[in-house]
Amino acid sequence: MELSNFNFSCPHCHHTVVKNDSIELVTNRFSGEQGLIRMDSKIGNYSFEHIPPLSFTEGESIRFSCPFCAANLTAEDYPDYALLTMDMGNGIKFDVIFSRIAGKRETRIITEDGIETYTG
Ligand SMILES: [Zn+2]
Repeated sequence: MELSNFNFSCPHCHHTVVKNDSIELVTNRFSGEQGLIRMDSKIGNYSFEHIPPLSFTEGESIRFSCPFCAANLTAEDYPDYALLTMDMGNGIKFDVIFSRIAGKRETRIITEDGIETYTG
């Protein structure tokens, strides 16, 4: 599967969360700090930029929310992951979940055929 240039959207309001090839989401830390994260939209590339600049603590759980409808993106069935909708074009959409745990680089694409896991 070619894993680039797909659109990602909020599973709640369906607004695209991709801007300039980055997935932009609101972050909330346990400490109450809120920020904005820009993650590379290519699956398997875990580089990101955070505004304001900060480094997360290894193992810390980050809550991601939609910048448009403010919905908490934590996946109901996978509480350690955040959920987005991946749009493959032609009306084909998959659920994609990525780890909310800092330092744990893992993305899973959930399809009818099963779950594909990518780590980085
Ligand atoms: Zn939303």
